[in-house]
Amino acid sequence: MKQVVVLSGKGGTGKTSLTASLAYLAGDEAVVVDADVDAPNLELLAERKPLFEEPLFWGRSAVIDYERCVHCLLCVSYCRFSALHVKEGLPKVDPIGCEGCGVCQRVCNFSAIEMREKLTGRFFISKTRWNNFLFHARLAPSGENSGKLVTYLRRKAEEKARAEKKYLLIDGSPGIGCPVISSLVGVDLAILVTEPTLSDQHDLERIVALARHFGVPHFVVVNKADLSLKNRNRIREFCSLQGIELMAEIPFDQQVLDALMVGIPVIEYDPQSPFSQGARAIWQKAQDFLKAQERS
Ligand code: SF4
Ligand code: SF4
Repeated sequence: MKQVVVLSGKGGTGKTSLTASLAYLAGDEAVVVDADVDAPNLELLAERKPLFEEPLFWGRSAVIDYERCVHCLLCVSYCRFSALHVKEGLPKVDPIGCEGCGVCQRVCNFSAIEMREKLTGRFFISKTRWNNFLFHARLAPSGENSGKLVTYLRRKAEEKARAEKKYLLIDGSPGIGCPVISSLVGVDLAILVTEPTLSDQHDLERIVALARHFGVPHFVVVNKADLSLKNRNRIREFCSLQGIELMAEIPFDQQVLDALMVGIPVIEYDPQSPFSQGARAIWQKAQDFLKAQERS
């Protein structure tokens, strides 16, 4: 089983549209992971059928029993995370800010504070209409640890893919933070999607550095490549100097936006559009690379 992640230095580059198209092309040969747990969008394009759902409780939060509380406000002065504030003379916990350290519980002389499990998020397994199993999650409003959640998703999806499938396809988070590292480490190929702007090139350079650091083979895809030929040439030059293969240059394609408006990937909406043709070429190159990797 081979693992492929699609990443971009920031949102809105076409990363999820590309992952959805690759998932469509891979069909039942792939297990798909939506590792963009802060803003999971893949499920919106995939029209999923839920198979399994599990709440995840990974943290703790302070809860005050106002029957016992005598309003001394000692707990408020001890909270280092400013998660306790005073409202109308009563201590109030901000569950989003609460780190679950338990200090307030220890200092309360009236046993008025209890530490309760906090909902981190919900984990789902679904079947997409392209016959992939989709592993995805939603962070709770006060949920943290998106990197840990991505690791959890990957581990669950890997178990399934290793037993039955050829590919694990991961839609990574944008940026270079913790969830990105969690979705990048240990994969066989990273497809880095960028656009021809200076800021995107800067983001690309950071993500290339990250892929190098973790020893992950990577290719670059320039989406909307014709929007600035000057910047596209700069990306070409950067890839050439760095010895990175430019996997595809896809021109601006209005069909991608039209497809998003009706909630399906462009490859289903218009299989012959420039983006769809680019996605097909990318998937073919990815498969060729993975096969060659297996032989070597
Ligand atoms: S320390 Fe205990 S009694 Fe005092 S305000 Fe906090 S919860 Fe209430
Ligand atoms: S558990 Fe820690 S972070 Fe949460 S309210 Fe109490 S002192 Fe503050």
